[in-house]
Amino acid sequence: MLDEMKIGVLALQGAVEPHMKAIAGCGYEPVAVKTAERLDQVKGLIIPGGESTTVGKLLERFGLDTLIKERVAVGMPLYGTCTGMILMAAEIVGSTQHRLGLMATTVKRNAFGRQVDSFETDLDICGIEGGPFRAIFIRAPYFEALGSGVEAMAEVHGRVVMARQGNMLASAFHPELTDDLRVHRYFAAMVEESLGEGAKAQRH
Ligand code: GLN
Repeated sequence: MLDEMKIGVLALQGAVEPHMKAIAGCGYEPVAVKTAERLDQVKGLIIPGGESTTVGKLLERFGLDTLIKERVAVGMPLYGTCTGMILMAAEIVGSTQHRLGLMATTVKRNAFGRQVDSFETDLDICGIEGGPFRAIFIRAPYFEALGSGVEAMAEVHGRVVMARQGNMLASAFHPELTDDLRVHRYFAAMVEESLGEGAKAQRH
């Protein structure tokens, strides 16, 4: 039997375990990524929620930022939730914090305001079928601006909260905190696509 396809979760800080479970729930092998060796093993990577200033610093300290950028440049799919979405943005409103800066986006941190620190809402997500998705937001960012090549996938109160740019996906909310696997399946499909038809044929 061939190995299951490995999808990584960046495990420097934050909500790693729920993403690992969701990946396993989709039928893929989750790998906690803290080192270059682990990053080499995975075909796609998720950056979980946490604290973006901390994760940004740790990415730099562990030398993973350059390696992740190199992999994404040659096609590895990357999905950032919340902190991940912030670290993937080219611009962060009012901040010079360390980041990957891979997506042509401007994000605003903690953007929904203190009075609505956390909330849940039903979202219609473009590209994800089967009805609205229950989305959990925790001190969430939103996209203030999208550059060329970035597609908006979902909005809350007129603010874009999920977007895709080629092999990069980002959401302000936390699909790993619900039992609904559709967003993780969508990302897994991006990973499958990135491997191309030849690789798919070999796996099945
Ligand atoms: N507000 C946090 C940050 O700036 C993100 C919160 C989250 O990931 N749930 O990193």
